[in-house]
Amino acid sequence: MQDLAGRRALVTGGARGIGRAVAELFVERGATVMLADADAEEAAGTAAALGDAARSVACDVTVGEQVAGAVATTVEELGGLDVLVNNAGIEIVQPLLDMREEDFRRLTSVNLTGVWLGMKHALPALAESRGTIVNLASVAGMNGCPLLGAYCASKAGVIQLTRTAAVELRDAGIRVNAVCPGFVDTAMVDRAAVAIEAALGASFPELVAAKQGRLGTAAEVAETVAYLASDRAGWTTGAHYVLDGGLSAS
Ligand code: NAD
Repeated sequence: MQDLAGRRALVTGGARGIGRAVAELFVERGATVMLADADAEEAAGTAAALGDAARSVACDVTVGEQVAGAVATTVEELGGLDVLVNNAGIEIVQPLLDMREEDFRRLTSVNLTGVWLGMKHALPALAESRGTIVNLASVAGMNGCPLLGAYCASKAGVIQLTRTAAVELRDAGIRVNAVCPGFVDTAMVDRAAVAIEAALGASFPELVAAKQGRLGTAAEVAETVAYLASDRAGWTTGAHYVLDGGLSAS
């Protein structure tokens, strides 16, 4: 399937994990991709592994000038921008009110403000192409969750940014959607699992098995992102798509 043929995409946090899987699938489906990541070295390695259709740019999504710079680099090197995937995110596993203020601010700065900055700075280029935006939220944005309170709040914010942007940008022909995965097999979950096991004294694999059957894969999330980015989802905007093995269903 080449339903992203000719599309020019910017994927934040594209060096590894879900962002990398999205970039891989986009390239497979005919897109060219700019990987924007705070870890410039790993992003460059990922882009090199993906071949001529992928490039990389150093970008901390919490810094407006860097986000604007990543958009400008995409337009310059890829010839425009059709798809923005706001994927960069971090986790902090701690009881909500034990968190240090600087950690709460850091988490919301990456996960929430970073998404807003991406949409804000990409808007002129997306308006020109009548492009589309896919934001990485989480099932954590649909429920509260002990130890993940700040993360939940940031992802709930991403869902609401998505909805409002979808309505405000509808007349410009720009669709805006979010995806809400459950636990997915990436480095983020490896780190979270250690902290969750330490805090709860429970086995993380058993918790995952009971709640969602198994871990999701980054490739499964990428499939949904690619669908939402394509014209096949042409009437879908303001939605948040859940992929979680039933975690949020009960
Ligand atoms: P990951 O930790 O494996 O990769 C995150 C990537 O984002 C890394 O390449 C990292 O360098 C980059 N990044 C972090 N901070 C950044 C910043 N300030 N600026 C630019 N890049 C930055 O994470 P992942 O599991 O692939 O998660 C990707 C997204 O999916 C995140 O938004 C995450 O919250 C969301 N998500 C993940 C899961 C999961 O279970 N893994 C579930 C639901 C949602």
